[in-house]
Amino acid sequence: MAKYVYFFGKGKAEGKAEMKNLLGGKGANLAEMTNIGLPVPAGFTISTEVCTYYYANKKSFPKSLQSEVKKAIAKIEKAMGAKVGDVKNPLLVSIRSGARASMPGMMDTILNLGLNDEVAEGLVKKTNNRRFVYDSYRRFVQMYGDVVLGLKPVHKDEIDPFEVIIEAKKKSKGVHLDTELTADDLKDLVSLFKNAIKEKTGSDFPQDPMTQLWGAVGAVFGSWSNDRAIAYRKMYDIPESWGTAVNIQSMVFGNMGDDSGTGVAFTRDAATGENVFYGEYLMNAQGEDVVAGTRTPLPMSQLAKDNPTIYAQLDKIRKKLEKHYREMNDIEFTIQQGKLYMLQCRSGKRTAFAAIRIAVDMVEEKLITDKEALMRIDPEQLNQLLRPVFDLKEKESAVKSGRLLTKGLNAGPGAATGRVVFNAPDAEAWKKRGELVILTRIETSPEDIKGMDAAEGILTARGGMTSHAALVARQMGKVCVAGCAALDIDYSTHTMKVKGKLIKEGDWISLDGTTGEVIEGKVPTKPSEVLRVLVDKSLAPKEAPIYQEYAKIMAWADKYRRLKIRTNADQPDQALNAVAFGAEGIGLCRTEHMFFGEGKIGPMREMILADTVQERKAALAKLLPLQRSDFEGIFEAMNGRPVTIRTIDPPLHEFVPHEEAAQRQLAAQIGITYEKVHHRVESLHEFNPMLGFRGCRLGIIFPEITEMQSRAIFEAAANIQAKGIKVEPEVMIPLVGNVKELEHQEKIVRRVADEVMKEKGVKFRYLVGTMIEIPRGAITADEIATVAEFFSFGTNDLTQTTLGVSRDDAARFLVPYVEKEIYPKDPFEVLDRGGVGALMKIAVEKGRSVRSDLKVGICGEHGGDPSSVEFCHEINQNYVSCSPFRVPIARLAAARAALKDAPPSKTKKAAKKSKKK
Ligand code: PEP
Ligand code: MG
Repeated sequence: MAKYVYFFGKGKAEGKAEMKNLLGGKGANLAEMTNIGLPVPAGFTISTEVCTYYYANKKSFPKSLQSEVKKAIAKIEKAMGAKVGDVKNPLLVSIRSGARASMPGMMDTILNLGLNDEVAEGLVKKTNNRRFVYDSYRRFVQMYGDVVLGLKPVHKDEIDPFEVIIEAKKKSKGVHLDTELTADDLKDLVSLFKNAIKEKTGSDFPQDPMTQLWGAVGAVFGSWSNDRAIAYRKMYDIPESWGTAVNIQSMVFGNMGDDSGTGVAFTRDAATGENVFYGEYLMNAQGEDVVAGTRTPLPMSQLAKDNPTIYAQLDKIRKKLEKHYREMNDIEFTIQQGKLYMLQCRSGKRTAFAAIRIAVDMVEEKLITDKEALMRIDPEQLNQLLRPVFDLKEKESAVKSGRLLTKGLNAGPGAATGRVVFNAPDAEAWKKRGELVILTRIETSPEDIKGMDAAEGILTARGGMTSHAALVARQMGKVCVAGCAALDIDYSTHTMKVKGKLIKEGDWISLDGTTGEVIEGKVPTKPSEVLRVLVDKSLAPKEAPIYQEYAKIMAWADKYRRLKIRTNADQPDQALNAVAFGAEGIGLCRTEHMFFGEGKIGPMREMILADTVQERKAALAKLLPLQRSDFEGIFEAMNGRPVTIRTIDPPLHEFVPHEEAAQRQLAAQIGITYEKVHHRVESLHEFNPMLGFRGCRLGIIFPEITEMQSRAIFEAAANIQAKGIKVEPEVMIPLVGNVKELEHQEKIVRRVADEVMKEKGVKFRYLVGTMIEIPRGAITADEIATVAEFFSFGTNDLTQTTLGVSRDDAARFLVPYVEKEIYPKDPFEVLDRGGVGALMKIAVEKGRSVRSDLKVGICGEHGGDPSSVEFCHEINQNYVSCSPFRVPIARLAAARAALKDAPPSKTKKAAKKSKKK
């Protein structure tokens, strides 16, 4: 019979860490912590298979579940020496979700389940702590009313209905804090809550603990498909089919008095990665108080002073967990009347800065290998290291001139400037209009996730370093300043007061997420430390600790990757940036971009408007020296590295003016009539220029263009070689679908190369190859490779032509397509492996079947996307080429692909061979 329930308790568990798919992350780790001897309150996990069943069977449960749960409850009762619903000695439980991947706060939780009017009175007798009991009871009714019975705010500006009742109560009693309410007040709140539930939902709050339990289990499984969980899954690529597990665990209480407390912590600093115990706790509180940010918690260093015994126990657990998991962990703990309990551990979310520092430190501490370190850093995280920080001088002067509004917690590093908005839907709407926004909230909740994603930065008035705002911002890589108590935010007027100043919606503010400062107005930003070392050269490596860690990771990546990394660049400064980031060559130099440079567009237009070959040649002769010096600049910058230069590709109409005034000006410039210019431009009009007169078709109809470009390339090569700099030009013909097209162009290129070598009396090495960017080119790659010495996949066009989706017009329907999961991701961003990828695979195999040393690369935008890089590795390409700032990402992605692959020895040899190319 199927097993759905897994028990843990008294030092033994049926599950273990490896069972995450079945038990979810939380359940698997509760089991693991139990097994390694940590103090975990007894409980059980209902597996994710039940979630799948629940959704496949009209939200019902498998038949055998009821009896399994009953047995497991009996086991908890035995382990804890208490009974569910027992008036004298009641067992209370928590019900929590727990998916395979952590989804912090996205699904529902219910605490203190098992309380009812009778049990509450019984518990008062047992604990002799009436206030604690009624505080627990009112929290339970509040959570149950919200999560199971659906009493919650319906409008974005509305306040939680239970909070309204609490506020009214506090007002009537003339108090400000929840803690000032008496046991009677809290008991009163319980019945006010129950009345509100009955009135607004028509349902009674259930008194029977088992009815409560099944209601809660259903609600938690149900929360797998709430809006925020769905949005979160989309954002983090978590498949719907995974489902969540549900954990039922005996309650321990952090709100049992001043010898009780609760906390959340990271085994290392989640913001910087420093190897220190990093977290927060609150005495006399329950877990939700720390995370929700309703009270500002104390740092762990305070616990070391206030309760050294508990701190020492926790520190021991921290070390044990790090050794056991070989990973930075995020933990939740509760102290109940002086006794410590562990409620959760999982791999801790961290900033890119922390991810890199922790990975590097753990290698140095010999906890993990360099290979493991690479597998722990998401290549996209490197983006954060390349993000701007404030220009310190500008910030200093802003602060000196009195613009520092306040200081909060430095919850998410980096610098952000934007306009203030006060709720998540506004953040989304403003962002859509192209505004930069700072989402400003009293505190954030999981409902705010989309607005947080839309914002440049997040600012909150309440909450600590592990509050929802702080956790989620760090994970998203957003700048965040949390817990700014000085902010007096008024949602209804969309304003806030701070230091006597009124900040209105739409006003500019700046956040320094590294220091926690909030500054009025805009503050200009400065490039990252890595950029300052590598690109501006304004900072010495030895003064740049973040750079040093980055450099170590990059060195490890280079040790394991097989793919070479090139860049797409058409200007020497771009090329130099890319080399600084580790580019090993240029994979695509788009020569047409060069025609927009100084002095070139005039002769280019003359060439396009020419009537005769002679006129065209005359215009091309003017372009030749300009192109040659462009190429000289590029060869010099690349200093011996290979450079792939593509002959002209776009349709010619892109180079000519379309407005009358500009056409008249052009006519005057080149000494022909306006009518002629106008007529010629009109004649260039195409219904579908992307499939029209472009690519190699231009060079075939106007061979003199290819001739001029080849001459410019080879003369530049000869000139630079004469300066003692090695050159490796690779001439690339675009949009080839038929080998005859390539043959035609290749002849011209080789003839010109011979001519230049003869004229200059030199020899240089060069290659002639092609882009594979239309399906016929891929399918007939065995014919094309008889001529081409290399292939470079132009996956922008190959995606366009394979999918039959215009790259210029796709956004309108591709966004909904992705939402409807027709494509898992925008295929222009992440390679469509099933279609485009299949063609690439065919092309590599067919191409190498006739030319075994065929060099293969990619130069479409996908060359900088980690998943696409992995695919390029899998199909045995030689290199990927991407924009300069994505080079570090591609280096790491390539290493991770190689490590995942772990090739057998034969393939290793092949890999070595191809590396020599
Ligand atoms: C491509 O099509 O992928 C490519 C690199 O060329 P372009 O974007 O210039 O058409
Ligand atoms: Mg293209």
